[in-house]
Amino acid sequence: MQRITKDKAAYSMSCRNAPVAAVQPGETVVVETEDCYSGRLKTPRDRFTSDMWNTVNPATGPLAIAGIYTGQVLGVRIEDIATRDYAVMCVEHNSGALGAFIEGVETTILPIRNQALVINKKVQIPIRPMIGVIGTAPRRKAMLNGTPGEHGGNMDCNVITRGCTVYLPVQTPGALLMLGDIHALMGDGEVCICAAEVAGEITLTPHIVRRRLPTPCVETASDLHFIASAKSLDTCERRVLAKAIRFLTGVVGIQANNAARLMSLVGDLRVCQVVDPLKTMRFTLPKIALADFDMRAIRGFE
Ligand code: CA
Ligand code: CA
Repeated sequence: MQRITKDKAAYSMSCRNAPVAAVQPGETVVVETEDCYSGRLKTPRDRFTSDMWNTVNPATGPLAIAGIYTGQVLGVRIEDIATRDYAVMCVEHNSGALGAFIEGVETTILPIRNQALVINKKVQIPIRPMIGVIGTAPRRKAMLNGTPGEHGGNMDCNVITRGCTVYLPVQTPGALLMLGDIHALMGDGEVCICAAEVAGEITLTPHIVRRRLPTPCVETASDLHFIASAKSLDTCERRVLAKAIRFLTGVVGIQANNAARLMSLVGDLRVCQVVDPLKTMRFTLPKIALADFDMRAIRGFE
């Protein structure tokens, strides 16, 4: 199995990044990733300093997917996510949604034991490893990995976990997939600006998707999650709702009023994160609401 090592990383997604590996559709590969601090914070004495801003969120890649071309949709099945045995969190006054309450700068190392994050002696929470940064090269200008967008990027969406499929746009030949920023655990919002930041390895299988669907989108066992990012949550909300209703009307073939009723009855509008340069929301639609519509018609694999 191909292994793409974490030294093959970049700090932005761009169609000018040279691919570090070629992957066939249906080929399973292992991708090593560094943590969002580029591995520089290892003890509570290590501090995040402003000169590090240009080298945060390394993402491994890009991987060129053989035979995929502009205008298609890339499906990335996340087979597994493994983490190292400790997580790092760095909080700072005036950073994140809780910045006013935080005093000074503090780096915390949290051990991961028996698949649980050790907060303290009494609080140990099962980990739920997820991928913070995953995306393809944008159509035009490069996007720093810290920013989410229509290409994916730093969406910090905690449903991007083992067993899901992430659908991303293809805006340059080969798609140029990059990923990194694993979190061992993260709640909706990522409110203190970071999560349980870890290095790790992601096992994934890319696929060329048969039909177009709104992207970025994540399919889990039970749900579809449409994702959008924008300066304000109001704009995010409008964009995710538009993606979901366009999918229901244009791809599934449900009449618009029926689709709107369905979305109101069983859809969930949720926040992914509120601490990156753009905020991110998702609209979650249970697949049982799609009746006999078969997602396999879209995926083009299995
Ligand atoms: Ca992130
Ligand atoms: Ca992170």
